[in-house]
Amino acid sequence: MLKTILHLDMNSYFATAEQQANPYLRGKPVGIIKAEGRGCVIAASVEAKKFGVKTGSTVWEAKGLCPQIVLVPSDMDKYFALTSRMTKILADYSPTLEIFSIDEAFIDVTQTQNLFCGGVFGMALEMKNRIREDLGEWMKCSVGISFTKLLAKLASEMKKPDGLTFLTMENYVEATESVAVSEVCGIGYARTAWLNARGAYTLGQARQIPSLPVEIFDLVWLRSDDELSTIDDLEPAKSVSRTFTTFASLDSQASILKLVRNLIEEACMKLREMNMAGRTFCLSLDNFWARTTIRSPTDDPLIIFGMLNREYGRSPVTNVRQAGVWISNLAFNVQRSVFERRADLLRAADRVNEKYGLFTLYPAILLSSELVRLEVTGYLGDKYYRFRGAR
Ligand SMILES: [Mg+2]
Repeated sequence: MLKTILHLDMNSYFATAEQQANPYLRGKPVGIIKAEGRGCVIAASVEAKKFGVKTGSTVWEAKGLCPQIVLVPSDMDKYFALTSRMTKILADYSPTLEIFSIDEAFIDVTQTQNLFCGGVFGMALEMKNRIREDLGEWMKCSVGISFTKLLAKLASEMKKPDGLTFLTMENYVEATESVAVSEVCGIGYARTAWLNARGAYTLGQARQIPSLPVEIFDLVWLRSDDELSTIDDLEPAKSVSRTFTTFASLDSQASILKLVRNLIEEACMKLREMNMAGRTFCLSLDNFWARTTIRSPTDDPLIIFGMLNREYGRSPVTNVRQAGVWISNLAFNVQRSVFERRADLLRAADRVNEKYGLFTLYPAILLSSELVRLEVTGYLGDKYYRFRGAR
């Protein structure tokens, strides 16, 4: 019996994740870079790809192709947290699941597809909807369905973004005639060059070449007898940190504490997203440094802020330009009994922020005078806050 394999691939994953987190980035060309200020684009948004920006473009090339591109430093914690939520959803559809990379997975639904209304199509549509509901309205994925992993992966690549493609025994040869040979998983740089040198750029052309070497023959006819295997889950985070450098130094204690609270809020959102809580909290402000550890882990920014505020109060430095918050000694799935109502509140706020963008809801302490509302430009892409009059 033929297998039914589903391949799900998140579209422009890192860039879309940043657009999900920050509505100001949506619809704009976004390039994800490793760190502030330099290097290569490691992911481009759908909008940036239209300008020709792609993974591996240097920042200089990307700006040449698309001067208005917004460059955002990568935030791997955020992407891993989203991936673990994606994994949880996909696991509802079959026990045979292979997380192939941070943004794609194979699922063998041979045994489970008939349990779903509408069969494998109904299943795939439901999966796509749930991803959007749970990871966020801006998050999109392409799904490919076929009878081997190779074909399922190719199918998901044939329509982006937001595609759903079915390659069957009957249609797959014809449906893939115009696919570029380099698109096939297994046809790398050398084999692509070998085929191109013989005038073959598409699979249709490659199939015309007489007496192909057997391993290339199998690839261009998309034959494979690949087995599904499961792999281990992603490694959990060891710590979560947020840092920020201001344009002008902060000279009031109130403004410093607000920035600290801001960073704690964001770090805690990340923690909750990963279903983790921490016991050790560090605060750094230019040359000031403090650390404190508590007995039972928490993900509540109010508690962490209370402790770091007390540390800060021991020697309240001012004229600060750099602030950092670290949370470590992390634990999974911490029981919450005493502050259940507060935990519910935080989770309700998280759901709103996941759906409508980070800091749609935030504590009132961040409302008043010195903090401006979220704003994004260029290299400071993932820093959602600026100080009024700082420039
Ligand atoms: Mg992808």
